[in-house]
Amino acid sequence: MTKDKRDIKPIRDAIDSIDRELLRLLAERRKRSIEAAKVKEVEADWFRDKTREEELIADRVEVGASHGLDSHYVTSVFHDVLEDSIRIQEEYYQDRANEGPGSLRVAFQGIAGAYSHLAAQEYFSRKGATASYLGCAQFKDVVEAVEKGHADLAILPIENTTSGGITEVYDLLLHAQLSIVGEVKLKVDHCLLALPDAKLSDIRTIYCHPQTVLQCSDFLTRLSHCKIEYFSDTALSGKKIREDGLVSQAAIASEEAARIFELSVIERSISNQRENYTRFLVSARKALHVDPRIPCKTSIVMMTGNEPGSLLEALSVFREHGINLTKIESRPILENPWEEMFYLDFQGNLASEKIQNGLDEVTRRARFIKVLGCYPSKDLPAPAARSPLSAEDEASTETVIAPIAPPPPDVRKASGYRLASREYKADDTVIEVKGVRLGGDSLVTIAGPCAVETRDQIMTCAREVKEQGGHILRGGCFKPRTSPYSFQGLGYEGLEMLVEAGQKYGLPVVTEVLSPDDVARVAEMADILQIGARNMQNFTLLSEVGRVRRPVMLKRGMSSSLDELLQAAEYILAGGNQQVFLCERGIRTFETATRNTLDLSAVPVLRSRTHLPIIVDPSHAAGKRELVVPLALASKAVGAHGVMVEIHPEPEKALSDGPQALLFPQFSDLMDRLYNGRHK
Ligand code: PEP
Ligand code: MN
Repeated sequence: MTKDKRDIKPIRDAIDSIDRELLRLLAERRKRSIEAAKVKEVEADWFRDKTREEELIADRVEVGASHGLDSHYVTSVFHDVLEDSIRIQEEYYQDRANEGPGSLRVAFQGIAGAYSHLAAQEYFSRKGATASYLGCAQFKDVVEAVEKGHADLAILPIENTTSGGITEVYDLLLHAQLSIVGEVKLKVDHCLLALPDAKLSDIRTIYCHPQTVLQCSDFLTRLSHCKIEYFSDTALSGKKIREDGLVSQAAIASEEAARIFELSVIERSISNQRENYTRFLVSARKALHVDPRIPCKTSIVMMTGNEPGSLLEALSVFREHGINLTKIESRPILENPWEEMFYLDFQGNLASEKIQNGLDEVTRRARFIKVLGCYPSKDLPAPAARSPLSAEDEASTETVIAPIAPPPPDVRKASGYRLASREYKADDTVIEVKGVRLGGDSLVTIAGPCAVETRDQIMTCAREVKEQGGHILRGGCFKPRTSPYSFQGLGYEGLEMLVEAGQKYGLPVVTEVLSPDDVARVAEMADILQIGARNMQNFTLLSEVGRVRRPVMLKRGMSSSLDELLQAAEYILAGGNQQVFLCERGIRTFETATRNTLDLSAVPVLRSRTHLPIIVDPSHAAGKRELVVPLALASKAVGAHGVMVEIHPEPEKALSDGPQALLFPQFSDLMDRLYNGRHK
């Protein structure tokens, strides 16, 4: 017997109103969860109470059974309800610790319907925050939008479970002045999209992103009669199909893109792997302080020494400190062929003592380190129960210029430096540049003109340095001149000449950088960056060279104490760059017989206070060439790791510092005496 169709209407109405009531109750339940979070914040040391969760499920199963509901159904419903409750409580703590949800501007690569856009939407709907979206042409534009304040957050894909790491984003993270504040994993369901009236057999050209070609290679091999055209953006390829209006064209993109561009999905789930996920990072200008009760990850990038075993040595720190590494990825260092940077993710809160101690040790063993961020992560076990934040914790998470863990307050107050101190690192730091080892037992000679003047001049000097057994070529391109009317240097044109001369004669080159804006570009070209005496306390400049991976020669300011010199070095070390060496170049005293007074006692004093190499520049100290040789020899005698001298083929014609430039025969004599003739 068939029932009258009208009979179902009241039943459906009843179901609808039950569902509405369920939704109202779920919303009510959420409100109570937030209330509970507020209470827990004051009282409990741990807000995820596993026992309570188990009891709750057991109770619901029992009550459910009395209503005739099976336990599997009840368990799965309440599992979801509980997860939701934990999540909103976590969001509540995060928003309390940081700025709160509000309305955020989010930059992503692509246009609406791109996977980055979907990931961003998922992230913010989860947080219950409203967001406006800013689509950018390239990943670097996404980073720049946030760095410049046009957007609050950047969302960047970092890895895919099928095609692996997104190298361009890794490279960008290294330089970006952003901190990772979150991550989101998006299930990527690639679809083949075409005009609504197109059939699979009509398709001749498929537009897709190179990553999707990798992820859908099995499907694409089956369509061997189709031409693959690379496209920078998945959603954009959908847009193109709509605009071209050809049934022979298809695109690989999300179902959302099909909806936006009114296309139809010809084939769904075309990835090689059904479980195809992309992990996205969310980055902001300001680092996040993650509540210690929330499971979180820390990401860093480091450059280890390039001796055999140095990676293992750095990694063993994680084992020694019981830190769980969850990911390691390597990327070549563009300026140093065959050397690698390592990107590591590990479990733990940056503010915790355990992670601070671990990172401290990694810093000791690395040449460069940068913390990319500390952020909540869903798939980690909860941290061990602990007491709520103590006053000490608050202090240790205070933002200092350092991207690495700041030292305890007592150290900061006492000497003002820690990473530079012997107490921090007992062994001498040895800096290696293109086979030259600076520090330890060797004596290194840096020589060259005060300023690069012409191609010929720098080539002649380079040949002389090489022939006399010198190790590093110097040459100023950006000159810090006392008078604005004096020769200011040839700038980048001069730097190109210096680099060419260094390459021709196999000598690493050092040059001074004057402005923070020039640091990145100069670091791409020169092997060593020099911070001149006049800039020893240019803190913006110091922080900037702390972010690059080139060794830095820091000259002592002409009125600076040794403690001030070490605190200036600390800026660079705390910025992540562990390759710093110091240069004594004379200080201002009442004495007028010399340009400055060479403070030779600085060498043994510094050797006892710091593990950083220390060299002496007698040229700028004396200001007169006849004093340079004896002072250089004295520098060796007091234990300097090297000397730096100015030479010039025709000092009388020099555009700067001619009176102190050694003539070539004098330089040759100096080298004989420094190395007892051994170099010839
Ligand atoms: C130099 O070495 O080129 C220089 C300018 O020296 P200082 O900064 O020590 O004066
Ligand atoms: Mn000079």
